[in-house]
Amino acid sequence: MNALCWVRRDLRLEDHAAFSAATEAADRVVVGFVFDTRILDPLPRDDRRITFIHRSIEELDARLKERGSRLLVAVGDPIDILPRWVSALGIDAVYANHDDEPYAQQRDDEVARNLKVAGSRLETFKDHVIFERREVLNQAGEPFRVYTPYSRAWRARLQIDDVNPRVADEDRLWPSDQLPLGDALPPLEAIGFAERDLWLESGTSGAKSRLSDFTKSLDAYGKNRDFPGLEGTSGLSVHLRFGTLSIRECVRTALRHGSSGADTWLSELIWRDFYQMILANFPHVVDGAFKSEFDRIDWPGTEAHFKRWCEGTTGYPLVDAAMQCLNATGWMHNRLRMVAASFLVKDLLVDWRHGEAYFAEKLLDFDLASNNGGWQWCASTGVDAQPTYRIFNPILQSRKFDPDGTFIRRWIPELRHLSNDEVHWPHGCMVDYPHPVVEHGKQRELALALLRSAGQADQ
Ligand SMILES: Cc1cc2nc3c(=O)[nH]c(=O)nc-3n(C[C@H](O)[C@H](O)[C@H](O)COP(=O)(O)OP(=O)(O)OC[C@H]3O[C@@H](n4cnc5c(N)ncnc54)[C@H](O)[C@@H]3O)c2cc1C
Repeated sequence: MNALCWVRRDLRLEDHAAFSAATEAADRVVVGFVFDTRILDPLPRDDRRITFIHRSIEELDARLKERGSRLLVAVGDPIDILPRWVSALGIDAVYANHDDEPYAQQRDDEVARNLKVAGSRLETFKDHVIFERREVLNQAGEPFRVYTPYSRAWRARLQIDDVNPRVADEDRLWPSDQLPLGDALPPLEAIGFAERDLWLESGTSGAKSRLSDFTKSLDAYGKNRDFPGLEGTSGLSVHLRFGTLSIRECVRTALRHGSSGADTWLSELIWRDFYQMILANFPHVVDGAFKSEFDRIDWPGTEAHFKRWCEGTTGYPLVDAAMQCLNATGWMHNRLRMVAASFLVKDLLVDWRHGEAYFAEKLLDFDLASNNGGWQWCASTGVDAQPTYRIFNPILQSRKFDPDGTFIRRWIPELRHLSNDEVHWPHGCMVDYPHPVVEHGKQRELALALLRSAGQADQ
């Protein structure tokens, strides 16, 4: 039997559910990747993520070559390319991992239909999360809507087999000299994208070395994770997004350590499963509020204020530093994502969907489920909503989480020489820095009124 392992958001060979299943079932397995033009066409030509993907794919190809095989690569629409590969190679089954994003679901349905016509089939596996879809349910047999009870049930359910590595038999790899197809990795420019500098190493090798460095400071994670001036978090989200690292390996690392820092990190990994589960069960979140009563709000924020937020010139130093960091690197610390998102919605009164779309365009680790979940959490329109609406004070957040202004100074050079006190609110000092676009106290009341009027059922 011949199989094709189609990699998508799982760009590795190690601990890979579909690859492991394919080598168990088939005599010969070839691995393939499609640069999906339906995803790529709308992206800006300097999108950093394509550099990360291209480099990771290059490494995957190199690893396959070391084992005497090679990666099949094509640029186009998977619904046409997969049947072509299947017919050319006599593939009995295509193996892939689940992807619960609405576009991926629709694409996989179409691919499965076309493969059937071509005399083959699509087999899919859970890989990207520990528990998916309807695996962790409440006592009524329904998906959870609040994180804390979900995480308790998640932990209670966890068995060793949920995190054991999915091992593949690499002797089953298809020898490259017996592959009649030319389809090889084109240079990035040939796909129409520009090479970008990245702040992190790509591929499995980049993921492994980052995980191993982070593991040394894992015990201090609980203490350091909220301070953007420190390197207190793993920076692994990009690798988890593109599957250059297995989520099971992260959970195994956390469990092996067993410290309270490691346990806090595990809770974050569970947040990731939680939002994936929400997206799978409540796909309406892609287009609107999880709690639809909040779709009634007509957010009065202006285009001009949204622009100031995007370019990081709101006059609120921590927000501006966060946005400048995002624009320059494609990265933002979790605490800053919360502060910047809260500021856009609760201070500038701009519809959270604009901010969500901006993050989706800029974040290297952009993941529909986590980004949407994070935005809805900050906008108080989603799951896990608290009885009183959560509104961050951007100046207090700044004093608390960037106490000596390390992060602000890194991104706003004009404020570098100010004292630790002034750096959080430089207005009145002799600096070339924008006036605050709005007054927090006043905007807070307006935001509360908007949320209360929409969510009365909630109060
Ligand atoms: C408005 C907003 C938008 C966000 N958008 C994204 C996004 O597009 N992609 C993304 O991966 N994360 C997103 N997050 C979650 C979180 O900010 C990032 O996962 C985290 O900052 C990544 O840094 P790290 O890898 O150093 O995390 P660590 O602190 O080391 O955490 C380890 C891993 O756990 C997961 N994780 C951590 N926190 C969360 C969380 N709150 N929700 C879901 N998963 C989490 C990530 O996979 C992360 O890599 C968003 C949060 C907010 C508030």
